Amino acid sequence: MKFTRLRLSGFKSFVEPTDLLIEPGLTGIVGPNGCGKSNLLEGLRWAMGENSFKSMRGSGMEDVIFAGTNMRPARNHAEVTIYMDNQDRSAPSAYNDSEHLEVGRRIEKDKGSTYRINGKEVRAKDVQLLFADASTGSHSPALVKQGQITQLINSKPINRRRILEEAAGITGLHTRRHEAELRLKGAETNLTRLDDVVGQLE
Ligand code: ATP
Repeated sequence: MKFTRLRLSGFKSFVEPTDLLIEPGLTGIVGPNGCGKSNLLEGLRWAMGENSFKSMRGSGMEDVIFAGTNMRPARNHAEVTIYMDNQDRSAPSAYNDSEHLEVGRRIEKDKGSTYRINGKEVRAKDVQLLFADASTGSHSPALVKQGQITQLINSKPINRRRILEEAAGITGLHTRRHEAELRLKGAETNLTRLDDVVGQLE
């Protein structure tokens, strides 16, 4: 599974639809201060399901929408799509029948985010799990933010362990375990209720 293209539209400084082609090998992005290099990386992390607006340098998630300039009016929605090549069929098994994967996130003012995988609307969790199972995601150690190295050096062992778990691709298992625990708790509550009803009938 390889990232081949990132399309941003109305996202931060990328008001017009903009494609970043990710060719085989190394892709370098150069430009003057403030031209949007970090916004590209944030677009990638956002489409992978990032849900912390602070880590997107905003005071609310809607801050990712183009806020307008003296010359251009603000937008009321933003969209980022990640295009992936899956010809080697290395995507998690649920998506292995597709040669190409398209994962998109869209946010509309006052309406929140919606996610799509190959055109089909899915939950944020489905997108996060897709990337977690592929050993990547919005918190992947491969995506190094400004100041992150210093933060890593100063972080507690438990946070460093999280980084190792993400690299090993087992973060998705934690999410699934949590979901299974919630289902188990629900089943236990139902059983207790059932016992009460049976007790009343006897
Ligand atoms: P540096 O090299 O200094 O780190 P950079 O190339 O990484 O800079 P970014 O931080 O990606 O630049 O982009 C900052 C620019 O994005 C600023 O000009 C800021 O005004 C613009 N920007 C951020 N959010 C929005 C938004 N919601 N609407 C419009 N422009 C935005």
